[in-house]
Amino acid sequence: MKEISIVGGGPSGSMCGERLARAGYDVTIFEERPSWEKPCGGGLTRKAIEKYPFLMDNSLPKREVNTAEIISGHRSGRSQRVQFDLGRPIVIYSRKVLNTLLLERAASAGCRVVESRVASVDTHGDTPGERVRLTARGVEHKCDFVVLAGGARNQLLPDTTPLRPQDLEMTVGYFIPASEDVLKIKFLPQFEGYLWSFPRADHLSVGICGKMAEYSSQTLREHLERFVNEEGLSIHGAQFFAHVLPAPEADTIHHRRVAGKNWALAGDAAACTDPITGEGLYYALRSGDLLAEALIQAAPEAYSAQLWTEFSEDLEFAARIARVLFRGQFLGAAVTTRMVQFLRRSPTFRELVRDIFSGSQSYRTLKRRLWSQLGGTLAEIARSMFESPAAPHAEPYSAGPSN
Ligand SMILES: Cc1cc2nc3c(=O)[nH]c(=O)nc-3n(C[C@H](O)[C@H](O)[C@H](O)COP(=O)(O)OP(=O)(O)OC[C@H]3O[C@@H](n4cnc5c(N)ncnc54)[C@H](O)[C@@H]3O)c2cc1C
Repeated sequence: MKEISIVGGGPSGSMCGERLARAGYDVTIFEERPSWEKPCGGGLTRKAIEKYPFLMDNSLPKREVNTAEIISGHRSGRSQRVQFDLGRPIVIYSRKVLNTLLLERAASAGCRVVESRVASVDTHGDTPGERVRLTARGVEHKCDFVVLAGGARNQLLPDTTPLRPQDLEMTVGYFIPASEDVLKIKFLPQFEGYLWSFPRADHLSVGICGKMAEYSSQTLREHLERFVNEEGLSIHGAQFFAHVLPAPEADTIHHRRVAGKNWALAGDAAACTDPITGEGLYYALRSGDLLAEALIQAAPEAYSAQLWTEFSEDLEFAARIARVLFRGQFLGAAVTTRMVQFLRRSPTFRELVRDIFSGSQSYRTLKRRLWSQLGGTLAEIARSMFESPAAPHAEPYSAGPSN
């Protein structure tokens, strides 16, 4: 196997191409929109930065954010919110900058980048040993293996199924020309998804994601407009966006085929995203990297198993607990409201949430950690309430009627 085609020059395709080209493969990346501002938060966790330090070690515009604010909405309109120090900052990129960086790295490693949309892929040659055929702008290209890294909307599906509406979230949002220092996340009552405001180098990415099978774009848009108003933002000069985001169900993560003899899916196309947070950049980079490694080792069949060991098993667990987080109750209130209250008053709980934000806390061990810490957390909360009903540790915050 020498010639490899990659459909999509986003994070997963570029990472895969870069690694393969460095190993001496003849790689062509087909990308219909190189360097575009793909709708995204652009947030990279510590986990991603530690695995791929070049994401930090460059002079490109990006934003390091140290403070997060969690807001828990209530049906009465009375939200509870808390700000806390993230400990290990999140790095936020504009996707135009990030995609350009990744695609340029792939090109300098030796990838041929073709600005074109791939319209069809045929992995079943008429004769044994026949190569994969792709068509782009009416021209046929042949290769030995094709990597399908075309994102959440990928329709090129050799021998596998498309993602179903229940495996996808709809997102709508704005790139707003404003500056803030705090990353905000707002949960809505009984709502599977969340609102966000992510500060970038010269604007904010503000949006909402919600299960495609449950919420219409109109509903999401209404929540978004309310959030923008509540946070005192102006959409004057803002750019609206809408896109889909995989939030795969557990059985999809477990059973969906992501590779065959001469093809493999990577990144969003393979539904490699966290079904709770929507984090996909790390998983896109990592899946592209793992796929390249499997091809270099001449063992493409090992790719699915490596995805499973490295993160899919944990993401499957996340998919199973997502409903509890978004819709569950704990001690008589919404889990998300308890989260805000615990964050205010318990240093132990804050450390746990910091680890979730940094990506160092796996979902599989989360429950055990929560239960083992619960006694200490509740004791800290009781002590804090006794010492100061206004919660001393996590200033500033507003517990009373806000938006
Ligand atoms: C609104 C929103 C907010 C998000 N926020 C975050 C966040 O803050 N942090 C995070 O980690 N993740 C976030 N994600 C997820 C993240 O954006 C994705 O997981 C990530 O972009 C996946 O990378 P990818 O390379 O697999 O796909 P993409 O980034 O979608 O790249 C696919 C590329 O393929 C190209 N392409 C598609 N089809 C073809 C074709 N037929 N021919 C040629 N080219 C093609 C497209 O132009 C595109 O450039 C967010 C997603 C959304 C929608």
